[in-house]
Amino acid sequence: MRQAMFDAEVGDDVWGDDPTVNRLQATAAELFGKEAGLYLPSGTQSNLAALMAHCGRGDEYIVGDNAHTYKYEAGGAAVLASIQPQPVRMLDDGRLDLNHAASVIKPDDPHFARSKLLCIENTHDGKALPTSFHDEAAALAEDHGLSMHLDGARSCNAAVALGVSPAELMAPFDTVSICLSKGLGAPVGSVLVGSKDLIAAAYRCRKILGGGMRQAGGLAAAGLYALEHNIDRLTDDHARATRLAEGLAELGVPVTHNTNMVFADFGPSGEAVAKAANDANILLAVNDGSCRLVTHLDVDDDGVESVIATVGRALGR
Ligand SMILES: *Cc1c(COP(=O)(O)O)cnc(C)c1O
Repeated sequence: MRQAMFDAEVGDDVWGDDPTVNRLQATAAELFGKEAGLYLPSGTQSNLAALMAHCGRGDEYIVGDNAHTYKYEAGGAAVLASIQPQPVRMLDDGRLDLNHAASVIKPDDPHFARSKLLCIENTHDGKALPTSFHDEAAALAEDHGLSMHLDGARSCNAAVALGVSPAELMAPFDTVSICLSKGLGAPVGSVLVGSKDLIAAAYRCRKILGGGMRQAGGLAAAGLYALEHNIDRLTDDHARATRLAEGLAELGVPVTHNTNMVFADFGPSGEAVAKAANDANILLAVNDGSCRLVTHLDVDDDGVESVIATVGRALGR
């Protein structure tokens, strides 16, 4: 990937003539089964540009109450775009409660914000939502004339876990945002894919949000490399997360795990575990005893075993 970045041909993407950015956008569109793609510096900006492409001032988007776009993006849709979020209960498995969603969609009435968009996240906390849920959400959206956005920051993990192609997973959505910088292993960047018209609208929004990046080809080359080499190998990350979860469970640590994420509860031993990890040069963020561990392409089998062994020592097992 570093070599690909070094070798990248660049131009000025604000003029649309950076060949590597253009290649990344075309590759993403093709791979994810949409007409067009757009390269953005972050997933947060990609989601916001998409929301702005779908919704105008006084419109509303329906979103999970624990979803990244709603909870972890500093309220950008409301702050910068005057889009009202309508949060909806999320079920334990990461799905939106679609009955609740249906009950908050507003009729066309001047008292109400205009319900415009349904936003889904997959994976959510590592949980891969089945394509049948996407179809149910799409049926609801169609009944109410809503468009659909997928916060698919980690959607390639979902596709690999479900054994479907990314394009198949994304088919019901008008726009999808994919992080190149998470499991796919690029240093930076996201791609947004969708119809030509929506991507043209998002392009304008990216400009407003300051996301036009001049000689971005060096960065885009990393994203391109990620799309070409790092999707199928996500199964390795999932297998390592499974091994990590099993290893911790054998030590008596309560864990849940999905795709590449393990949630461990070290309870009152949290501080001792964090200290032992720190001493062993393992970065572990323990909060109130609990910890999210995420496998990725820089974590190998030995790394997983060393985390298990270190936690075992800290717990005196
Ligand atoms: C990481 C993430 C984002 C945002 O991406 P950034 O590049 O950190 O801005 C959005 N949604 C989900 C589900 C994520 O995991």
